[in-house]
Amino acid sequence: MSSSMRLADLAVAAAIPAPATPSEAASTAWPSDPMNSLTVGEAMHRLARELYPLRRSLTGDGFRETVGRVGQLIPLTVTETRTGTQVFDWTVPQEWNIREAWVANAQGKRVIDLEYSTLHVVQYSVPVRQRMSLAALRPHLHTLPDHPDWVPYRTSYYHETWGFCLSQRTLDALPDGEYDVCIDSTLAPGNLTYAECELPGDDPQEVLLSCHSCHPALANDNLSGIALAVAVTRALLQRTRRRWTYRVLFIPGTIGSITWLARNTAAARRVQHGLVLACAGDRGKLTYKRSRRGNAAIDRAVEQVFRHAGAPYEILDFSPYGYDERQYCSPGFDMPVGCFMRTPNGRYPEYHTSADNLEFITPAHLGDSFARLMDVVQVLEGDRMYASNNPYCEPQLGTRGLYRTTGGTHVPGYEMAMLWVLNQSDGSRSLLDIAERAALPFALIRRAADDLLAAGLIREADA
Ligand code: ZN
Repeated sequence: MSSSMRLADLAVAAAIPAPATPSEAASTAWPSDPMNSLTVGEAMHRLARELYPLRRSLTGDGFRETVGRVGQLIPLTVTETRTGTQVFDWTVPQEWNIREAWVANAQGKRVIDLEYSTLHVVQYSVPVRQRMSLAALRPHLHTLPDHPDWVPYRTSYYHETWGFCLSQRTLDALPDGEYDVCIDSTLAPGNLTYAECELPGDDPQEVLLSCHSCHPALANDNLSGIALAVAVTRALLQRTRRRWTYRVLFIPGTIGSITWLARNTAAARRVQHGLVLACAGDRGKLTYKRSRRGNAAIDRAVEQVFRHAGAPYEILDFSPYGYDERQYCSPGFDMPVGCFMRTPNGRYPEYHTSADNLEFITPAHLGDSFARLMDVVQVLEGDRMYASNNPYCEPQLGTRGLYRTTGGTHVPGYEMAMLWVLNQSDGSRSLLDIAERAALPFALIRRAADDLLAAGLIREADA
């Protein structure tokens, strides 16, 4: 049976975009300017498209191929952890690999087939090869009656079973009768894979960026986070100097972060700022979920950036649900790690369905998430404490030419930013403190501080 015939047979096929061809591979198409959010957004979308059809799961070759592709864009170290390894209260599970999964009718026509979408099989399904009636098959079929054209995403990592996911419309069209069922999978001792990129900085203390990379064809919940992590890493790679050491993790959700933490407790202690990246490409507004601490520097940095970004946004308090921040913020670690998103998990109907596809994420929104995240990086890199060299009354700015250092164009708030930095720089307040108190964008405060440093009016006080 040709694949084009089978495509025509399935109602769901129209919802599944064709995979990228090798010539569209993102590795050859990343823009030369890694800071241009428009072209970077397009490259992020191409990467999501390239990764979309891979058979990713919690473990297995689909995950390896995903980090292999990412590894063509940024330097990665891949770590394998054996099945059965104890990681805190958890055990590394068996490795799952899938070759074929289909249901065929009495005429031999495949009515459900993994070839069209990796969502069609319940993740971690055990092998099956059986002929059975539709009635016997039904308990193994998962649909979304409220969204009859969508295919759900289902997993069964910790309970051995098998099943298929399909649209309600496809199910409704299946006549009673006998069906051949095939799941050619392996669930056996192997490894759990994760990958990380370490970018050394002046300070061995770290900034952690983490994204779950274990979902199959789900664009916003998974691929957007991977694409955002790649984009930021590529931008950081271009810097001749980084203040912080950056560690970027591509891990299977929950068990991946638990495994990484179990193997890297020393590195975890070095993390000064951290973000989980997820759901970063949809058309919704930017959302930030605070760390467990609630007022960590990362919480304040993200809120500062969102406040001055000129677009609607939402700040959520920490809750012990969601993504891998649950593990990073468990009380034994209590790392300053928040979650950077657009529309959060579970807050959009397309979540965990085939409708979270490549049309659900846009290059523009991916690019916007990238630009705002780079603003956050600028705050983390640029937040320092200064002391005034001229603390007795205001220094004269005009005679030092400081009112004119903006290149002849008037920048709103620039003079106020200088006055605030001069007034607050007593060696106990950081530029982020000052930006918050002055209600001015951090970038403006940073620029004023740079000019005051150049004029010798302030000195570093936190070195
Ligand atoms: Zn998910």
